[in-house]
Amino acid sequence: MKILKIVEELDLLAQSFEELGQLHIAALIDRATSQLQKQAVEKAFRKEDVEALRKDFLMLMKNVDRIVEYEDFTKFREAVKQWRAYYENAVYQEFLSELSAAIWLYLTGENRYNEQFDAEHKKWYEYWNKKIRSGTWDLYIQLSNIPKSLDDQTAFNMWTSIKKEWADKVKREARKAWGVLGEFLEWMAGRNQTPIKNVQEKHVEVTEGFNVTYVGFEPTKEHNVKSMTEFQAGLKHYRERASQVFPLLLKAKLPIICDFQCKRSVGGSYERDHILFCAGSFAGPQGVAHVMAHEMGHHIYKSVLSGHQQNYWTHAIHQDWGPLDLNHLLKEWKPGEKIWTLEERLADKDPILSLQIACLTHESLPEHMNWDDREDVEAYIAEHGPIITVPKHPITGYGHKNPEESFCETLGLLVSYGPRALDPLVRSWLHTILPEVRVAQAESNL
Ligand SMILES: [Zn+2]
Repeated sequence: MKILKIVEELDLLAQSFEELGQLHIAALIDRATSQLQKQAVEKAFRKEDVEALRKDFLMLMKNVDRIVEYEDFTKFREAVKQWRAYYENAVYQEFLSELSAAIWLYLTGENRYNEQFDAEHKKWYEYWNKKIRSGTWDLYIQLSNIPKSLDDQTAFNMWTSIKKEWADKVKREARKAWGVLGEFLEWMAGRNQTPIKNVQEKHVEVTEGFNVTYVGFEPTKEHNVKSMTEFQAGLKHYRERASQVFPLLLKAKLPIICDFQCKRSVGGSYERDHILFCAGSFAGPQGVAHVMAHEMGHHIYKSVLSGHQQNYWTHAIHQDWGPLDLNHLLKEWKPGEKIWTLEERLADKDPILSLQIACLTHESLPEHMNWDDREDVEAYIAEHGPIITVPKHPITGYGHKNPEESFCETLGLLVSYGPRALDPLVRSWLHTILPEVRVAQAESNL
């Protein structure tokens, strides 16, 4: 159940990652794992779950005085056994297995390892682990102290003589268990009031000539410092490269917000009057420069390009789609290879085909194919024939979501990686609508 939910959420996350344009797998997986784990922890420690456990327990215990003959007792004993298994699962499988992660969440607001909190985490983990185990275990033991090994009638007689003592003990141990679980949940709920979580400091600074508002930056957090370094090096790279290939980009300097507490999984987004960066999902300085140029691309497309220029670009992108013979793909495909491995492998050998695979399978494209294996493509050919339509001069997989995204990805690649990252034909389209873009000159400078 929990696993299924997590898989669903991973899908959602994967979709939002597409906004990033260029994927940076390690950083994204790290982020996804951290987020999913945080969600799992928050689910495992809900007050309602402990409350439900307790309610079922009270209902069970109401039956103690209703048992009048041994058949009732046999049924009751079975119910106790079932509740006990349920309790064991809830406390020991669900609750305690997430304890370590929960304490990270309490201390740091997330799940990523952070040596700053290592000692404190260890201390709290030992404290709560011991406390919860010893506070909840006696109930489990006491519940199993119910007469069972004799024949039904004898067990029933025995039960009758000890039932009051048994029930009192069970209830006492249960109070102890609810007490300790409640105490822990109370402690967890207090995490929002901890100063660590509440720091949402803002400061405005001029970085590489840009007005940047830094939100929630915590100099004690190693990953914040890392993101900050990447971000600032990325802006530097962007400024230097943009001044060479497309100085107009630097004339329109939108203010930037760089959010270190950002919970979204995209690298950045264009917000019309500013650009938002989500620190934590950066793919190095070049990745930052790519995102910056991509988001500025939206600004240029929407507020600089004339209708005529937009039409030219849209037409150029649309007319470029043409047939691909999938047998060509099968020829390159090694047995047992996954399509993403094939795509990666072809990146140097046949970059166009590699990007065409990216276009065909990119989830943000409405008509994308759910292909994993060679057999999937063979099945497609059997049903539809070997010819499929793809961009003949693809930009990036995500870039073919629509012409505006194509334009943004073109600028992103050009600024961050240089003109050689673009097909000559795509460069010429760009040059036609924006003659001031130095696609050829800059290349000789590289
Ligand atoms: Zn975009």
